[in-house]
Amino acid sequence: MRLLRAWRSSLWRLAAVLAVALAVGIPLNAVPLTLALALGACFGWYLYRLARLYRLLGGPRRVPAADGSGLWDEIQNLLRRRQRAAFEDKRRLVRLLREFRNAAAAMPDAVVVLDREHRIRWFNTAAGTLLGLKYPSDIDGPLTNLVRAPRFAEWLHADSVEPLADLAAPADENVRLNLRLIRYADEQSLLVARDVSQLMRLEQVRRDFVANVSHELRTPLTVVHGYLDMIEPEGMPEYEPILHELRSQSRRMTQIVEDLLTLSRLEAQGELPQERISLRSLLEALRREAQALSQGGHDVTTERLDPRDLLGSTKELHSAFSNLVSNAVRHTPAGGRITLRWERDGDGARLSVVDTGPGIAPQHLPRLTERFYRVSTSRSRESGGTGLGLSIVKHVLQLHQARLEIRSELGVGSTFSCVFGPERLLEPLPLTEPA
Ligand code: ADP
Repeated sequence: MRLLRAWRSSLWRLAAVLAVALAVGIPLNAVPLTLALALGACFGWYLYRLARLYRLLGGPRRVPAADGSGLWDEIQNLLRRRQRAAFEDKRRLVRLLREFRNAAAAMPDAVVVLDREHRIRWFNTAAGTLLGLKYPSDIDGPLTNLVRAPRFAEWLHADSVEPLADLAAPADENVRLNLRLIRYADEQSLLVARDVSQLMRLEQVRRDFVANVSHELRTPLTVVHGYLDMIEPEGMPEYEPILHELRSQSRRMTQIVEDLLTLSRLEAQGELPQERISLRSLLEALRREAQALSQGGHDVTTERLDPRDLLGSTKELHSAFSNLVSNAVRHTPAGGRITLRWERDGDGARLSVVDTGPGIAPQHLPRLTERFYRVSTSRSRESGGTGLGLSIVKHVLQLHQARLEIRSELGVGSTFSCVFGPERLLEPLPLTEPA
């Protein structure tokens, strides 16, 4: 509408100029000359307005409002409106950016913006305290020069999405940090470091408490168990079932304490022995154990489809696999089939214990490795379970950078697989000729 008005006004003006030129030219008999002069003047005027607009746009100040009603004035006003909108947008963005920076700066977690080469672009106040960064001297410096732990450099260069847990803060050894690296643009990433010292202390208190309680219970339980074994209810057959129940409960308690101690030991374990574990012997030992437990009630078979051996702690891995085998035997009704299978899994390998038992409903699967989690408490107790077996398996596997995978279908059976990466596998030893 505005544009139409401006066009109309400009055309009227042009028509007026031409009319004046005609009015002057006709009496003087010099119409072409007066028309040429009038058009030249118009052209000069347009050039002048164009140059002025160019100067206004390029100048440091904002384009002023034009008070005329012609096309040039309308263009100038349009540019002014656009400029003002862009300026408003910019101001809003700057305000937003400032608010965002203030919020990030006030965060209790350390936040560092890094470029592709992991040089520091920006950091908040907490990064100064937790990571020991100084403003402005550390800006543009590589972060690995300031946080010098080799573990940290390795993790940062790997661009891992997994967090880095339990790193000592460079400024204070007693402060423990959890770090995360978040890529948010091609060129940039955000490093977030959280102080987890308090959480770690609580976790340590919990671990110590469980370990101490279990340890303290062990001795009295051994004594009770010992005496119960010695008692013979001669001549008092009515005590026989009571004694039997007492013995079975004290055995169960002893087993729970032993399992809790095993878990505490695994949690405290740093380095594990790195031994060659022959899968041929291991599968054979597990098969014998399964048969002994089942007492001929199940059909137990082994399949060794990958010739490679495992690297790790023989004792711990054997105990983890035994747990899975014992679960399969305990939870599979007599007559069922149990298969122990060692096979390739990409570059790695997996040891699976497959049974034809009752299976587990999908809603239980994510929680099975929690301590004392059971699908059916009574059945687990009856079969001599403590509810800690799969927790132990998970911990042992974690110490071997491996993972437990559970697949199960109700009425069909379950498969518990321990999945190992290629770094945990060893090529088989060449067969030596007998002397
Ligand atoms: P438990 O000592 O009770 O067997 P676990 O931690 O070893 O404790 O196992 C947790 C629960 O997972 C068991 O109580 C049982 O309900 C379920 N479970 C484990 N293995 C199997 C299996 N092979 N078949 C069916 N259920 C199983």
